[in-house]
Amino acid sequence: MKGQINVKTENIFPVIKKFLYSDHEIFLREIVSNAVDASQKLKTLSSLGQVKGELGDLTIDVIVDKKAKTLKVIDRGIGMSKEEVEKYITQIAFSGAEEFLENFKGKSEAEANALIGHFGLGFFSSFMVSKQVEIFTKSYQDTPAVHWTCDGDTEYSIEDYDKKDRGTEIVMHISEDCEEFLEESKILSLLKKYCKFMPIPIRFGKEKVWVDSETEKDKDGNPKRVEKEQDRIINDTNPLWKRKPNELKDEDYNKFYHDLYPMNFEDPLFHIHLNVDYPFNLTGILYFPKVKRNIDPTLEKIQLYCNQVFVTDSVEGVVPQYMMLLRGVLDSPDIPLNVSRSYLQSDSNVKKISSHISKKVADKLEEISKNDREDFLKKWDDLKVFIEYGMLSDEKFYERMEKVYQLKNTDGEFFNFEDYKKKIEPLQTDKNKTLIYLYAKNTDEQYAYIKAAKDKGYDVLLMDGILDSHFINMLEQKFSGARFVRIDSDVINKIIEKDEKIPSKLSEEETKKIKELFEQNLDTKKFTTQTDSLEETTQPVTITQNEFMRRMKEMSEIGGGGMMGLYGDMPESYNLVINTNHPLIWDILQSNDIEHQKEVISQLKDLALLSHGLLKGEELDEFIKRSTKIIK
Ligand code: ADP
Repeated sequence: MKGQINVKTENIFPVIKKFLYSDHEIFLREIVSNAVDASQKLKTLSSLGQVKGELGDLTIDVIVDKKAKTLKVIDRGIGMSKEEVEKYITQIAFSGAEEFLENFKGKSEAEANALIGHFGLGFFSSFMVSKQVEIFTKSYQDTPAVHWTCDGDTEYSIEDYDKKDRGTEIVMHISEDCEEFLEESKILSLLKKYCKFMPIPIRFGKEKVWVDSETEKDKDGNPKRVEKEQDRIINDTNPLWKRKPNELKDEDYNKFYHDLYPMNFEDPLFHIHLNVDYPFNLTGILYFPKVKRNIDPTLEKIQLYCNQVFVTDSVEGVVPQYMMLLRGVLDSPDIPLNVSRSYLQSDSNVKKISSHISKKVADKLEEISKNDREDFLKKWDDLKVFIEYGMLSDEKFYERMEKVYQLKNTDGEFFNFEDYKKKIEPLQTDKNKTLIYLYAKNTDEQYAYIKAAKDKGYDVLLMDGILDSHFINMLEQKFSGARFVRIDSDVINKIIEKDEKIPSKLSEEETKKIKELFEQNLDTKKFTTQTDSLEETTQPVTITQNEFMRRMKEMSEIGGGGMMGLYGDMPESYNLVINTNHPLIWDILQSNDIEHQKEVISQLKDLALLSHGLLKGEELDEFIKRSTKIIK
């Protein structure tokens, strides 16, 4: 029998083809998942007693025939009667296609693509790559088998057919311009991408594997490795995330991680197994990866599934931005996957899912920080960026992490916010009642400054992460009456000013003179000279860099926008602090030998630069020569 598909739009297929150009390959996912659905429906009916007898092997076959130029998907599912084919394929599916066209005239390709499944274009996506599609199907109910054909026009034919076994065979006659879909390697990679965890076994030809021989032994008496041909099964029908957490070990989770990301040889730090069924449905496993520097971020992403069917690995919107560093899988039938991003972000289910995920991640972090503190601290360096990013971008996450976050000092000790505050409060409160958090960026380069602070009984934090300048800024807003000051931003007595003032040994006039002497011998564009009456034991000359200017510059470097762009362009500038109480400074003033004065001043300045890690190039060379001369 021939039929006319009841659509107003002629030539529906060329238009669909054009619309869906960029995502041609999803046709295979649609056809295979229809086969999976049909098989699962059969299983359900059988368990309800509505299908009698053995179901037999339900494995789905995908077969490429390069000669015949066909791609076949064969299932042993519920099949369809003639009426059902008419109803589900010709009427519903076609009208879906028509509705699609009506709605998306004039829309961009990307928008149209995003709506494909939404309009029930599943089966019809096969026409994106085929010039003709045939269906051979026999229902599980005892009705005659049918053969349906359509060549991409609005005409189709449907007739009875002699097929004995239950199920559906879809035969796609691949069009000339889509012959890549006749390549075995192409189909294999698509099946691996979209069907890897579908719930019914999918077979794609045969493969050769190496196994231990049952009969032959090698010369050491061990079973010989022999090559064997076996069915190539694409999928793991019972993926880890669908299983019960209490039946699984860490090794199982790690193995699954490596299956997902075969290029990553490092074990994840830990995992979170998600399982929610109210008010939305969500399963999945999220992993905290070891943050590596050179890993290609495009290779490893969270994968999104809908009932074990791969949908996408761009999860923007579904998980909060800062969670994009995580890896793993999410599976939810409640995420409207086929709609545009902007819609996705405003969807209430998606919002709930996103905040649920943040909550679960926070729970997990809290749990391990409490129950296995040692392990947590060992992993801290890898977790820190992630946690800081989260705290910076999500107020709720900040609140959850308030007790979890670890401040690490330069001795490698860890404290939570509260404990650290208690520790430093007695000594590090200055005369204005401001609590000063001292920090260093590098324990080697800033050794002298750290030492000077520790000698006074102060504690110094290590803040060496890439987000730390932003993070410190935020902490200053959160901690009232506190300031973070980098250890080299001033001499320590000035960073934490106390009431007691050390009297200067120099008169006002002498102080002015020594300042001038230094200025005559220095590049004043680079250094601002200042004098200070410090303890005798403090270095005669110290280089410092203003906290505010330095921090603004750092933040503009990692991106902060607005005003901060301005600071990025400012040249580096340093202060040179002269300790007027140091005996050497007194000596310089007393000396009548101008050459000697000059030499000592240069030497002191260079030593200060050296301890700040700033002595380089020509200056360093001069310093070495001068030092050698002095020793002589
Ligand atoms: P959707 O799968 O979203 O419902 P499709 O256009 O992919 O839309 O399929 C339309 C209908 O055709 C299905 O709902 C199903 O009833 C029927 N169908 C498609 N493929 C098969 C199959 N392999 N076995 C049985 N029924 C099928």
